[in-house]
Amino acid sequence: MPWIAGYPREKVNWGPTIDGEKCVGCGMCLNCGKNVFRWRDGKSSVENFFNCQVVGCSTCANLCPAKAITFPDLEAVRALYKKEGIWGKVREEMIKEGKITG
Ligand code: SF4
Ligand code: SF4
Repeated sequence: MPWIAGYPREKVNWGPTIDGEKCVGCGMCLNCGKNVFRWRDGKSSVENFFNCQVVGCSTCANLCPAKAITFPDLEAVRALYKKEGIWGKVREEMIKEGKITG
């Protein structure tokens, strides 16, 4: 997962939460191909929170017509990246891959 450069995914609090009261059962979020959601009793539920693949992205929340999906506080994620030096590790990986120059 390039955005966390080998940092344990389970230590990064990023993934969707569904408000079951707001969900209208449109099924849109099940279009996520990462096995995050399950269809239960005509609505969606989060089954595999940490399967959400790109830390910081929130496509399902952006497209949910009922605004039923939320994500954790981005500032806390930024603080973790700073504290754990994740930005630097990501940068090193990108230099190795030739995406950026040092
Ligand atoms: S996209 Fe939103 S309204 Fe549609 S099933 Fe998912 S959570 Fe429910
Ligand atoms: S942000 Fe993307 S990967 Fe994560 S659960 Fe939503 S659609 Fe799936």
